[in-house]
Amino acid sequence: MNDNTRRFIIHRVKWLILFMGIGSILVYLLPYPYDFISLASFFVLMVYLRNRNEIKRFGGMDGIKNLFGWLSSPKTGDQGKPLKYYCMSCGKEHNEIACPDCGSKMKRVG
Ligand SMILES: [Zn+2]
Repeated sequence: MNDNTRRFIIHRVKWLILFMGIGSILVYLLPYPYDFISLASFFVLMVYLRNRNEIKRFGGMDGIKNLFGWLSSPKTGDQGKPLKYYCMSCGKEHNEIACPDCGSKMKRVG
């Protein structure tokens, strides 16, 4: 186990303790069924905030992402990054049907 993995697990446990602490306070303070409703919405909020926080802090660590595969769906990383096409004859990057430079219709995705 390397340093990054340990830091990640400590980070996870911290969130879990925080969630359980606030969760038990909610259950203690609120009557049924409001405790469950608020707990559920609180849980969703926590997961959302935690994932945002982790993507910022651990976004570059692909090994961790693979280890905790459920953290993000495999597609998340590709969104917002449009595919690039390159002409197979001259190598120019373009999005047309035919290359604007040499007219070739052969393209490759890069
Ligand atoms: Zn071309």
